Amino acid sequence: MSYSQLDRPVQFLKGVGPRRAEGFARLGITTARDLLYHVPRRYDDASTLTPVGSLRVGMDVTVVGTVRTKGVIPTRRGLRIFQAVLEDDSGLVTVAWPGRPWLDRKIRVGDVVLASGRVKFVHGLQLQPREFTILGRQGDAAERTGTIFVSYPASEEIPQWVLRRVFAANLDQLLAWAEGEEYLPEAFRAELGLPTVADALRALHRPSSLADAEAGRRRLAFDELFGLQLMQALARHRMRSRTVGIAHARTNELLKPLHAALPFRLTSAQVRVLREITADMSSPHRMNRLLQGDVGSGKTVVALFAMLLAVEGGHQAALMAPTEILAEQHARTLDTLLEPLGMRVLLLTGSLSAAERRRAHEDIAAGAPLVVGTHALIQEGVRFRSLGLVVVDEQHRFGVRQRLALAEGGEGDAPSPDVLVMSATPIPRSLAMALYGDLDLSVLDELPPGRKPVRTEIRPPSVRRRVYEMLAEEMRAGRQAYVVYPLVSESDKMDLRSATEEFERLQRSVFPDFKLGLLHGQLAAEEKDRVMRAFVAGEIQLLVATTVIEVGIDVPNATVMVIEHPERFGLSQLHQLRGRVGRGAAESRCILIADADEDAGARLRVFCETADGFALATADLRLRGQGDFFGARQHGAPALRYADLLLDEDLLREAQARARGIVAEDPELQEPGHAAIRSWLLSRFGDRLALYGVG
Ligand code: ADP
Ligand code: MG
Repeated sequence: MSYSQLDRPVQFLKGVGPRRAEGFARLGITTARDLLYHVPRRYDDASTLTPVGSLRVGMDVTVVGTVRTKGVIPTRRGLRIFQAVLEDDSGLVTVAWPGRPWLDRKIRVGDVVLASGRVKFVHGLQLQPREFTILGRQGDAAERTGTIFVSYPASEEIPQWVLRRVFAANLDQLLAWAEGEEYLPEAFRAELGLPTVADALRALHRPSSLADAEAGRRRLAFDELFGLQLMQALARHRMRSRTVGIAHARTNELLKPLHAALPFRLTSAQVRVLREITADMSSPHRMNRLLQGDVGSGKTVVALFAMLLAVEGGHQAALMAPTEILAEQHARTLDTLLEPLGMRVLLLTGSLSAAERRRAHEDIAAGAPLVVGTHALIQEGVRFRSLGLVVVDEQHRFGVRQRLALAEGGEGDAPSPDVLVMSATPIPRSLAMALYGDLDLSVLDELPPGRKPVRTEIRPPSVRRRVYEMLAEEMRAGRQAYVVYPLVSESDKMDLRSATEEFERLQRSVFPDFKLGLLHGQLAAEEKDRVMRAFVAGEIQLLVATTVIEVGIDVPNATVMVIEHPERFGLSQLHQLRGRVGRGAAESRCILIADADEDAGARLRVFCETADGFALATADLRLRGQGDFFGARQHGAPALRYADLLLDEDLLREAQARARGIVAEDPELQEPGHAAIRSWLLSRFGDRLALYGVG
């Protein structure tokens, strides 16, 4: 990578110097490039600004004006108010900051100030800002760029006007240096309608219109997404090509009878997804596919078809679940579906006796066609005769490494099994593409017909007694229920009900006639297992728990889910919890104990009215922001600065398609036409690229 002028320390730019450089460093800016990519977070123009001459009481406005006079005014009650009179082309207005006299030291006569807030009447019109920023100090040449005011993320040490001054002095030079940074071929940019890097940055710092700034943002967003997608495409390519895959041969010997024996018709989403999986499995490439579907969308049946396809061609298929109970549950479900075919699965979990385990290992080595299990499947001593497909349930519980360990499967030159990862945690498609771009994606976006939705309602804490009575009634009728809390035990820091204390209270003084169980993440694995088994067997009627019950557990007899402090949970998490009921024939309910009129109320009402997990996940993404998703789901995944997954789905699709196209054609990025892309990628991801044979 050749040296670029943009790698200079920011300290050597005009108007910076060593002292300010320290302040810049704390803003994350150490080089000239960092400064150039420090783009405005806000733009104001005629469409968002109000001339001060047209202010009226009650309006919520943003204004820009020059400070003409200012001062601190004491009031009789001892409150000190800082006031400034702002002038723009249309007139004058008083701006007041009650209780903030120290602003007198910050704001000077002649400063250009942008302020947002509500217009009040206090001895005349007065604007009381929620927010304000000093755009320029007297003597600054470029007070405004065209008719658009830009505001940068600033700090105490490096205020807005300093940033604007530094950009005024250096931007032309920085942009000239950036001319050399373009890495996308012209034709490529033209097809996507993207400006050059330098033009994009110019548009962001000095937009001629808001649309211009948005076009600039899209270019940087594309770069961000394209970089990630290229890395994922390289990983995907490596997975597919380094190992020999299996071209599964379909005979319909098993698939046809399974189809004929199903007690229902496949949904059109299931048919589509099966077609995607079959195409992948029949090709000599190795499949690495993520199957996403809401709770109850019928993933297990899809998995079974895929497993039988592997068996038809003479291979074995394995399904791996995160816990013993889930493995057993899967084994039962599959055995029921397989009964008409006269087949059974082999179950391998950690709780088999030594003799049973030895026996299972022998059967697997001898070629048992269908195996279901836990981590025990990837432990020492397990040798498949010919493993053709691995299905991994609930991938976020398994590390990527474990996924690979099982998938590495075949020894020596043996071909590698196809991999299907199933997830019941719907995430928006764009987020899935961003996070799992190295996998192919299949989505079950349709529920089988005739599902009864779970009745969801918000009840205030004052009627908790009535909720308990309803629970008791359900339990007397032979049903089971859950009560979920956000905390394991009481905390000094938060005034919240917790599972442990409430379990004791409920058992002792509310439901003495019923058997309650306690389940949370701090229990030993055996204890968790014991409680869960007792609940599955119906020996426990009410399970008091934290979110450990979130994933996968299926007790059709459970009909009520009560959630305390629901405002503490994300929408997707609430949806997962709700998915634990409504699995049998009986009508089910989900009750959120909360004050519906509090801030969280609107969000909870959305939850009550929406049964679609994907829609809730999208709402979650909108409400919580994408940073949260990246943080929680994939450590080390870079946060996106410019791209917005809700807004930029089209860019993401393009980025993925093009990244995959380039890698398919030129996996090591050796062709001259890709040299610029390659060195750009190296500068962004450095050593990690060596992993994929690019360097
Ligand atoms: P998931 O694993 O996606 O939560 P399951 O595979 O456990 O969903 O399916 C939930 C239930 O729906 C099971 O009882 C299954 O037999 C049933 N089911 C699956 N596909 C269909 C379908 N096309 N029509 C009706 N019921 C179906
Ligand atoms: Mg399932």
